[in-house]
Amino acid sequence: MKTLWTYGKFYLEKGKFAQAILTEDGRIKKLGKLEDFDPKEADQVVDLEGRTVLPGLNDSHCHMSAVGKAMMEVDLNTCQSVEECIEKTKAFIEDHPQWTQDFVHTMSWNEDHFTEGEKRSLNRWDLDRMATDRPIILERICGHIGAANSYVIEKMGITKDTPDPKGGKIDRDQDGNPTGIFRERALEWVKSLLGRPSKDYVKTCMKLSLDYALSVGITSVQSNDMSPSNIKGHYESLRDLYEKGEVQTRYRHQFCVESKKELEDLLAGEFQNPIYQGKTLTIGPVKMFKDGSLGARTALMKEAYADDPGNHGVRVLSLKDQKKMVAMADQRGFQVVTHVIGDLAAQETIDVYKEFIKEGKNPLGHGLIHLQITDQEVLDDVVKFDLPVYFQPIFLDYDVHIAEDRVGKDLMKTSYAFKTLAERGVKIGYGTDAPVEDLNPFPCIYAAVTRQDKNGYPEGGFVPEERVALETAIDAYSLGSAQMEFMEGEKGRIKEGYLADFIVLDRDIFSIPDEEIKNVQVLKTIVGGQVVYEK
Ligand SMILES: [Zn+2]
Repeated sequence: MKTLWTYGKFYLEKGKFAQAILTEDGRIKKLGKLEDFDPKEADQVVDLEGRTVLPGLNDSHCHMSAVGKAMMEVDLNTCQSVEECIEKTKAFIEDHPQWTQDFVHTMSWNEDHFTEGEKRSLNRWDLDRMATDRPIILERICGHIGAANSYVIEKMGITKDTPDPKGGKIDRDQDGNPTGIFRERALEWVKSLLGRPSKDYVKTCMKLSLDYALSVGITSVQSNDMSPSNIKGHYESLRDLYEKGEVQTRYRHQFCVESKKELEDLLAGEFQNPIYQGKTLTIGPVKMFKDGSLGARTALMKEAYADDPGNHGVRVLSLKDQKKMVAMADQRGFQVVTHVIGDLAAQETIDVYKEFIKEGKNPLGHGLIHLQITDQEVLDDVVKFDLPVYFQPIFLDYDVHIAEDRVGKDLMKTSYAFKTLAERGVKIGYGTDAPVEDLNPFPCIYAAVTRQDKNGYPEGGFVPEERVALETAIDAYSLGSAQMEFMEGEKGRIKEGYLADFIVLDRDIFSIPDEEIKNVQVLKTIVGGQVVYEK
């Protein structure tokens, strides 16, 4: 079927637009001016009424199962009292019996928001008022502390005589009986009662999140949902959805492995080789963690933290293990992507990668995720060794408030170096790390263009020399992200022969003030020439 999409403002590349395109068999056949087309050559004509059209956007690093899970759980973040948490959870259980029949869980309450009654943690007696016939575990928004109902406490056999697990704490009343509040490893331990989600639960979760992606203009995701512990069930659920045509968002896996043992298991299992072919569901890189986060001062730094003398952060993966793991993956043809936030995390990872770079070429595309704090040496090495970078400009929304305090003013000049690295020809893909930040790409593009938080702070932008042009941001979110998955010859542009993935916007992003970019909405999303979302 041939479809003519007409009266549009199709973004082709900086300064270049088309007015109409013809799609057939999932691809873009032809593009040009209105007069280049005869409506009779199409089976169907869609009038876009002058709207601006971008290539479908591609989130280069996110966690879609966690996005979907949050959509299937009660959100207590806005609750202003213990009582409101109880009422809202009860109502949620009633409204969503199929999502709450096996267990009730959330990670969202925050007693700092309580303005009525006691400002305290939820406990077993609060949760017992929600339900007593199934496990309920409600975690605080931070995930370090959570409450469990009596059902959980009894099933786990926890009494006044149960010792605290190593690295965790069970809160107790004056008689020593558990109050239902569990901390750190104790929380992890009680959560084990919830077990693995059912296949149906995973399918609903993935469908919800992948449909949400389409509604905000994301037509491709590179999603880190699988680790050796859930690999089989998760992949089967997803394959089922794709085979039945129930989801349309293009999906590439990033596999999380945290140790040599986990990588060995992965390489010995079902996914012995990366699969780069296929247009919808593909197997992508192995993902490793090198350090922690800037907020928690666990990002690994060359110099100690400016606001925490003596602390250089945490090396989550030793250099020795990292060398072995990257070698194992590389040998099997797997791309490796590594979470690096601090400059030392980046430097050590580059030093490991460079063994596999031949004459400045990085054929498997070993890359750096986040790459927030960087000194000049790191930036030069990223260019020299052809390392792709997975940026999340939306992190600036929070980091503009803390980054300089953490690492000092000097290092800020070379950090979050969106423009410098783009100008130096580095392959850059944008994304959100959702659900860390919302999957919506427009606030992220806004952050790259303005380097301000959502309220416009700081005026003029944070290190404004690193602000990028709107087209640079859009290209990084489309063609750039496609490069990360070796698909730049087929997607990421509105171009003849490319996959017909594009999005119709509610306003002309090229002519609105920068502060409005974050409010852009998507009216229509097209994947493979089919409308898969319409507002
Ligand atoms: Zn992530």
